Amino acid sequence: MKLQEELKKRFGYSTFREGQEEIIQSVLDQRDTIAMLPTGTGKSLCYQLPGYLLGGQVLIVSPLLSLMQDQVEQMKVMGEKRVIALNSFLPYMERRAALEQLHLYKYIFISPEMLMNPGIISSLQKLDISLFVTDEAHCISQWGPDFRPDYLKLGELKDKLGNPTTLALTATATEEVRKDIREVLQMDEAVEKVYSVDRENIGLFIEKVTNHSEKLDALLECVTTWDGSGIIYFSSKRMAEDVSLWLGEKGVTGVAHYHGGMEQEDRILIQQQFLSNKLRIICATSAFGMGVNKENIRFVIHFHFSSSIEAFLQEIGRAGRDGESSVSVVLYSEQDLSIPLQLIQSELPEDAQIQGYVRGGRQGQIKEIVDLLQLSEVQYRFLTYYTDELTKGQTLSDGRLIEKMKQIRNNRLQYKKDKLLYMIEWMQTSSCRREKLLDYFDEVLHKENGFCCDQCGYSLKDFKSQPYTAAAPLETTWENRLEKLLLG
Ligand code: ADP
Repeated sequence: MKLQEELKKRFGYSTFREGQEEIIQSVLDQRDTIAMLPTGTGKSLCYQLPGYLLGGQVLIVSPLLSLMQDQVEQMKVMGEKRVIALNSFLPYMERRAALEQLHLYKYIFISPEMLMNPGIISSLQKLDISLFVTDEAHCISQWGPDFRPDYLKLGELKDKLGNPTTLALTATATEEVRKDIREVLQMDEAVEKVYSVDRENIGLFIEKVTNHSEKLDALLECVTTWDGSGIIYFSSKRMAEDVSLWLGEKGVTGVAHYHGGMEQEDRILIQQQFLSNKLRIICATSAFGMGVNKENIRFVIHFHFSSSIEAFLQEIGRAGRDGESSVSVVLYSEQDLSIPLQLIQSELPEDAQIQGYVRGGRQGQIKEIVDLLQLSEVQYRFLTYYTDELTKGQTLSDGRLIEKMKQIRNNRLQYKKDKLLYMIEWMQTSSCRREKLLDYFDEVLHKENGFCCDQCGYSLKDFKSQPYTAAAPLETTWENRLEKLLLG
């Protein structure tokens, strides 16, 4: 009863959504908890509410700057001022001041990388952290072993902070991924609160096409037939840009592109414009979406399919947060089959790069190594992390080290290929897509869905997108801002 009163008082909601109360209770009982709730159903509340009932601070490890900023803004809007994100956006002086006064904050957001900074650790050690949260915890397993090794050190770090109660939150984690989370966060005794990953209001469709131009036609038909707002996912930055321009040329308004190669300020601007309905459609790479808390996204189209079911589910889960009917469409051409494989391979170092790094590069300057071996940032992080790990406390000959590194690389490659294969199987299935999607998470589909998938006899024509109301254009100049203020 008390929890519900607190919910009403602090957040204005009358009831908990499925899973929230059980997760919150588990945390309040000081039990380490791994919680899985579908995207958009309210994971944040699972640490926000306990924060008010527990003493001390809540530390939230978050994977992305934009996600952190967004969470902080939302909490401020809800009236909670004791919240801060420690990240590189914070100017140096402000960060120093914040570190001296951390005890004044209740909720502290931080990235795993920044959390490894000794100065920050010692500031955090002075606090009384009652809850240690890892948001989007599947990143531990998805990104940790490749390019964000600091994720793998979170368990050790927790120890330094006095082992507070730990909550791992995710929307997509298979049993295997949950096992990784449990190990890395050193939470052997953790209870699991796992709820269905199914999003009943999202119809699942595959549109088969034979070539690029057919694909463009299919895309154009979707975005001109439907009224609502949507995201189109691409596997290449260039293609995201080109198709965004092309749609503009075809008369589709309110389209922009977004990818990791753009300046951070531009990315934030685009995201904000999309959130406030000033843009209708975003052509993006997978860099877009985490933390995009927009209620009325009606469609997510994959121009190129995702490389795992987890990534796919995260991406389509951005649609229909308001519970209204929405749709996911994969535009699938057999020509695309080799793209994700190349992507996966290019993320990991090749034999020659491993050899070059171990035999000579290791002692050199970072920039020289990267240039000489033509390493991407991800490959470089992989090499530094695993050479450090493998040589910790033992001497290995170069030959042995190279062998071990290749072995790790091969295992990682296989792991990713298996995930990709399931995604391809899912697209090629002749049975119900929802059932097959749930099966991946060892879940059984229990009830009939009104607007299920193409295999269940539904067609994209059955999808009626709600009318879309664009917001007024941006007030770019101070003159028209002033005019607007004066007019009322
Ligand atoms: P996610 O699970 O994707 O992290 P969020 O925590 O951002 O989702 O929550 C999604 C939306 O649901 C937010 O707008 C939030 O205010 C709302 N929400 C969360 N819990 C409840 C609740 N019990 N009742 C009504 N709305 C809720």
